[in-house]
Amino acid sequence: MRRIVRSEAICLRVQDYHESSKLVTFFTLERGKVSCLAKGARRLRSKFGAALDLFAQSRIIYYSHETRTLLTLSDAELVHSFSGLALRPERFLAAEQMSEFALRVIQPHDPSPQLYRLLLNYLTTLESLQSPVCSPQSSDPTSLQSAICNLQSPSPYPALVCSFLMKAASFLGFRPELRRCLLCRRPIENARPAYFDAGRGGIICPRCAGDNPRGTRLDAASLDTLAFLLYTPASEIASVFSIGPQPAIEANRQERRDAGPDSLQSPPPVSSSANLQSAIYNLQSPLDLVLGFLGHHFDPLVLNSFRWHAGLERNL
Ligand SMILES: [Zn+2]
Repeated sequence: MRRIVRSEAICLRVQDYHESSKLVTFFTLERGKVSCLAKGARRLRSKFGAALDLFAQSRIIYYSHETRTLLTLSDAELVHSFSGLALRPERFLAAEQMSEFALRVIQPHDPSPQLYRLLLNYLTTLESLQSPVCSPQSSDPTSLQSAICNLQSPSPYPALVCSFLMKAASFLGFRPELRRCLLCRRPIENARPAYFDAGRGGIICPRCAGDNPRGTRLDAASLDTLAFLLYTPASEIASVFSIGPQPAIEANRQERRDAGPDSLQSPPPVSSSANLQSAIYNLQSPLDLVLGFLGHHFDPLVLNSFRWHAGLERNL
């Protein structure tokens, strides 16, 4: 039996299919991952237009069949194209890393509205980012802008990707523990190094780590930075770099609501913006750290494309 289904969706993957059609994988708000055949989408005057572009947010209508796995797309109305993501390669790569992770972890016809809104919020933030400002307009050496210009690689993208991945993993039930030691459950003391154990999923205090600690050694600033990336809405992270949009108040509220009472409702105390900035860059390779964590808790195949992208990003 055939049913008509309507949903808001983000386009995660588009492949050509035969001469005139496309095979499109959507992340739908109501039904998780859905793959549809868009007949005639490769034709010049296709009715779908930009609604099937990568990252596009659309309202889609498709036919669902009880006996067929491949569904037929009936209509797609563009809500937002996110075409601005393609203007800078590092911005595009960051968006691709986020959407690739979503593509691999969401399940067919299993809704994950928190993750959907998270991805939408991060794509919006990425698209809104201005180019890094590298000539200080302020003569005050302590200003945030001067601090950014003194950094060798003033890019917010790895920080935003890390933040997205940790939050997405949290929504899927794998939130890294950054506040208390996983073994003794004591709060991690300030100014003391701790060890991030990817396999166990969080921080081990120096007392429990003993003489032969496992994992990556993190100083207090690095730990503070990771916590900031995990617990702070995307637009506020972008604003730390002073090149992003003004924090989108409603989007931030939604992200805090989605995160639940245990998380974003009460962000941890963080260092001043300038210190935080330095800490983000001093963290050896935050993306590798987070990927290591994800590698223990998700299918390793999920991470292969990330490693490739992460290497490419560093060479840009
Ligand atoms: Zn401990």
